[in-house]
Amino acid sequence: MPAMASPPGPPPCPFCEIIAGRLESSPVYEDDQVVAFLDINPVTRGHLLVVPRAHAARLSALDPGTGASLFAVAHRIALALYAADLPCEGVNLFLADGEAAGQEVDHVHLHVIPRVTGDGFRIEASGQQPGRPELDATAGQIRIALAADIG
Ligand SMILES: [Zn+2]
Repeated sequence: MPAMASPPGPPPCPFCEIIAGRLESSPVYEDDQVVAFLDINPVTRGHLLVVPRAHAARLSALDPGTGASLFAVAHRIALALYAADLPCEGVNLFLADGEAAGQEVDHVHLHVIPRVTGDGFRIEASGQQPGRPELDATAGQIRIALAADIG
């Protein structure tokens, strides 16, 4: 009997594969909405990802309640990192939404990154200095979009 051809289409989502148990991971937490496991390319030791069970490529597809759970779990894990027997003097929470923001896996994930002084992790950016009129105009544009969202 010939081997089954692999199904057409894009490769499966690696985080959905981990959640389904078809790819290995080093888990630290799970509940009915969210799982957390170590990043396979950690920036620092203990760097992990908090991931919704339900596939959502972007924040625009993520249930807001699940997003709240994502942050609540990241908050708990951040406190656990301070308590764990690991180097941890600070913590970054980082979520990249969209390719332009540096998202590399199209399944929403919140990075929890333990930090120590001098660990070398940096986000390069040069701060601008807009005047108050520009800040107010920008705030107005965002308020309009929020009001439209609320309906
Ligand atoms: Zn997925």
